[in-house]
Amino acid sequence: MSVRRALHWFRRDLRLADNSALIEAARRFDEVVPVFIFDPHLLGADDIGSARVRFLVDSLATLRADLDQRGVPLLIRHGDPRTILPGLARETNASAVFANRDYGPYGRRRDAAVAEALATIGVAWEDHADLLLVEPWECLTGEGKPYTVFTPFSRRWRNIQKCTPQRAPRLRAVPETVTPGNLPTAEELGMGGTSDIPAGGEAQARRRLRRFAERRLGRYASDRDIPSIDGTSGVSVDLKFGTLSARQVFAAAADYVGHESIDLDPAKPAPSMNAAERERLREAGTFVNELCWRDFYQAVLFHFPSVLRGAFRERFRDVAWPEERPEIIDAWTEGRTGFPIVDAGMRQLARRGWMHNRLRMITASFLAKILLVDWRIGERVFMQRLVDGDAAANNGGWQWSASTGTDATPYFRIFNPLLQSKKFDPEGVYIRTWVPELADVEAPLIHEPARDPATLARTGYPAPCVDYAERRKQALDLLGAAGGPGPASPRPRRSVKRAR
Ligand SMILES: Cc1cc2nc3c(=O)[nH]c(=O)nc-3n(C[C@H](O)[C@H](O)[C@H](O)COP(=O)(O)OP(=O)(O)OC[C@H]3O[C@@H](n4cnc5c(N)ncnc54)[C@H](O)[C@@H]3O)c2cc1C
Repeated sequence: MSVRRALHWFRRDLRLADNSALIEAARRFDEVVPVFIFDPHLLGADDIGSARVRFLVDSLATLRADLDQRGVPLLIRHGDPRTILPGLARETNASAVFANRDYGPYGRRRDAAVAEALATIGVAWEDHADLLLVEPWECLTGEGKPYTVFTPFSRRWRNIQKCTPQRAPRLRAVPETVTPGNLPTAEELGMGGTSDIPAGGEAQARRRLRRFAERRLGRYASDRDIPSIDGTSGVSVDLKFGTLSARQVFAAAADYVGHESIDLDPAKPAPSMNAAERERLREAGTFVNELCWRDFYQAVLFHFPSVLRGAFRERFRDVAWPEERPEIIDAWTEGRTGFPIVDAGMRQLARRGWMHNRLRMITASFLAKILLVDWRIGERVFMQRLVDGDAAANNGGWQWSASTGTDATPYFRIFNPLLQSKKFDPEGVYIRTWVPELADVEAPLIHEPARDPATLARTGYPAPCVDYAERRKQALDLLGAAGGPGPASPRPRRSVKRAR
């Protein structure tokens, strides 16, 4: 009897455990031939960044080694998946191609074209739910419409049962009938880079998650907002590339609570929970809320793909952001604005390819609402630099910060970098780490060194690149003209969901 063979196309699911499509392919076929394709369309995009490419290559090397141990070669190809996959299916005599589902506009178009190309040669296409905890079309309003506000989305989302993670499938050794192909280095792909990024691969990802669950999850609710503390999970890069599944991350939170509860809602402890379980629910439930934001922004992108082009809210689509001077945009990008907390965040991004969430909000809000630069410029800079750069989460975060998005902060709420700095980095520990020229400046002066010209002269730290009060007023005028009533008669509360 002939061997029944399928291809598994790895994309952002670079792991063997709990990989929905791979598990299904291994269950139904005798042999699974895995392939990864470097797509020039993605590699050539203007928002690609070296940090992500380096993490990708590192994770692929680990995946290849893990598969080699099972006698299964990971094929590496370069080119257009619409031609590569039908060609490979013929070469390997595979009758189906499996992949995990993509929700962005390019991925959906590409997958539809791949499915069509495969159909013409009689090869089946199967995509599976894997990236998210809840599919975008499973979490809809009572009228079957997509949610555009986070809180009602999250209420519904919490009540949907999440799947438990599955083990890595047993893969049968595959004879090497086709050339595996070389895995290029990031340099060979033109993406060297020097930022200090985490190690790639499934084993490292699981170690990161285990450490977080053991050491930091128990203090997540209080520590997550302090940028000088390593208080968050650091698994965003693993969720971006699938070196962890969202189900594995959710399961770690559920295990921590140690109580049967499908929704992990910190506001609704089960009556049978004891005090310790309630406390654990508070921490883990706050963490799970962030996983819900992740699903929310993917659902927004799925239902409203035009958010990648401009403001979600129509009335903000024609805002003419007035600041276009390259020296101002460069000062923000390079961390030289003269606002220490903003500069610290941007320098952390440059060095680590990652920035603390509090700083993402501060720096994004600052670019749009104080520098008055079109937020899409900042969105692209983040995508070029973030190791976890994800179109849905990044766009959601930027539109939230610029007040143009689905669930945005009201336009008249403008983060004051000085107050944010004093509140979330009171002693200036975070600033000192990333802005070393201010290392010996004491708090509170470290939050606004320009108050003392001698400190600026001695440290060489720049004076503020704009006048905060003046710019704040301009922002209120600019956005107020587009956004309707200001603080005196705020918009209804339902559009103001995220307390910051
Ligand atoms: C302007 C801006 C841009 C952002 N760009 C990205 C991006 O490109 N990629 C990205 O993964 N996150 C992005 N975020 C969300 C958030 O800042 C990061 O997910 C978080 O800092 C990653 O660190 P962590 O894994 O330690 O997070 P944790 O606090 O441990 O959170 C756990 C996980 O929940 C998810 N998550 C947390 N917060 C959010 C959020 N606000 N929106 C969506 N998912 C969230 C992430 O997958 C994260 O790994 C952005 C936020 C803002 C304000």
